[in-house]
Amino acid sequence: MASESHQLHILFFPYLARGHMIPMIDMAKMFARRGCKSTLIATPHDEPTFLKSIAKPKDLGFDINVVMVTLPLKEVGLPEDCDNLNKLTTEEMRKQFLRAITMLDRQLELLIEKLAPDCLISDMFYPWTTEIAAKCGIPRLVFHGSSAFSMVAEECVKLYEPHKKVSCDSEPFVIPNFPGEITLSRTQLPDFVREETELTKFFDVVKEAEKRSFGIVMNSFYELEPAYADHCRTFLGRRSWFVGPFFLCSKEIEDKAHRGNQASIDQHECLKWLDSKQPNSVIYICFGSIANFDDAQLHEIAVGLEASGQQFIWVVKKDPNVEEGKEKWLPNGYESRIRNKGLIIRGWAPQVLILDHEAIGGFVTHCGWNSILEAVTAGVPVVTWPVAAEQFYNEKLVTQVLKIGVDIGAKQWVRFSGDSVKSERVEEAVKRVLVGEEAEEMRRRARALAEMARGAVEEGGCSWSDLGALIQELKSHKLARTKKI
Ligand code: UDP
Repeated sequence: MASESHQLHILFFPYLARGHMIPMIDMAKMFARRGCKSTLIATPHDEPTFLKSIAKPKDLGFDINVVMVTLPLKEVGLPEDCDNLNKLTTEEMRKQFLRAITMLDRQLELLIEKLAPDCLISDMFYPWTTEIAAKCGIPRLVFHGSSAFSMVAEECVKLYEPHKKVSCDSEPFVIPNFPGEITLSRTQLPDFVREETELTKFFDVVKEAEKRSFGIVMNSFYELEPAYADHCRTFLGRRSWFVGPFFLCSKEIEDKAHRGNQASIDQHECLKWLDSKQPNSVIYICFGSIANFDDAQLHEIAVGLEASGQQFIWVVKKDPNVEEGKEKWLPNGYESRIRNKGLIIRGWAPQVLILDHEAIGGFVTHCGWNSILEAVTAGVPVVTWPVAAEQFYNEKLVTQVLKIGVDIGAKQWVRFSGDSVKSERVEEAVKRVLVGEEAEEMRRRARALAEMARGAVEEGGCSWSDLGALIQELKSHKLARTKKI
């Protein structure tokens, strides 16, 4: 372990949503495994999850800890247990939540004064942390939770506004000055890009803060998207380090089983079910931590899955107000009909463990970046069903560049609920990705990427080297700073 004076101490400040917290915890572990001291900031509600996630590396002697901040929820008019984005149900609540987060500035400053870290890595959604880090005399690195592809695409759309030059919402346009002739339609863009809203201004602030920061840490690896990583560095001029996939630093089953939340199924039961299946014969369906479909859409998925005749594991968000098995979306007698063929997990699934199992042959995903990266790393082709956020860009990367997936046909960006998709499309896409020559071809490509991903984080791999270069640079920065003091 590095000696105290030379050891780099990094403070990690994750956004309070599972899709952001999970990779930030993984990143903190990754830095700790490379000899740094990692301190993660959590809220009281999430502290147990954080502590559980770092228990193993801590046991192994790595220097990793959790400290707390408390959101001023009462002050902004939110109930006390609303300290995570995943718990907010209305637009108004989300606005109040953002306000509460901004009010954490003084607590962060005090933490930096007390802990004296050498660097702050904070989520892109905390633009105000660039100033605080500067005031405290330490560099701020931005954690960008998505692909270089989507990050650069977003900026090119913002800069050239191709969506304003088409005659209707559905007319396709090519993203200008962007490698690969990538096409998109206006309906696939976020609402705050289609028209000016408060969020448009917020994202402008995010980008400005990003430009003034020390650089960006990407949960991706160079070989996955070299043209876009280069474009990010040269065209956008952002200093960026591609050091992912972060989650590969967790090797133990226990670590993977409860990543981000308590799983709603015993991992052994789940793996036993998969063990009884042939390789590549099961489709896994999960839409991340935020997207939430209505009863009508869930019903279409249920019907489509059954009609496909394929075996499946389907993760559905649990409705605490409805008894299991009595949900409106569940067709009559469904679970007894699919008994040996399908497994429905209500709540949280051990996703990484499931994807890694050889029985999994495909993944229907909303194209959240973590899910895409996990599919790539497991060598599993996907059915893309983007809902909102930057997911339509990720879909294009998967289907048009990496060519490891087929799209379900979602055409409309709709926050949380997405475009509606009929059962026939589900049936067809599931079959396409699981059986036949096209599926085999995609699987071969996905497997090659999986090998690259694992190689990237091994000693000498591209992410390993980029992380080493970043640590070295931060150490030089620390040295220069201490000399000045
Ligand atoms: N996840 C999980 N079990 C679930 C749902 C999600 O482990 O039942 C994990 C998934 O492996 C991924 C993260 O939660 O790491 C979701 O992140 P993603 O970027 O895919 O989507 P988001 O939730 O941000 O929309």
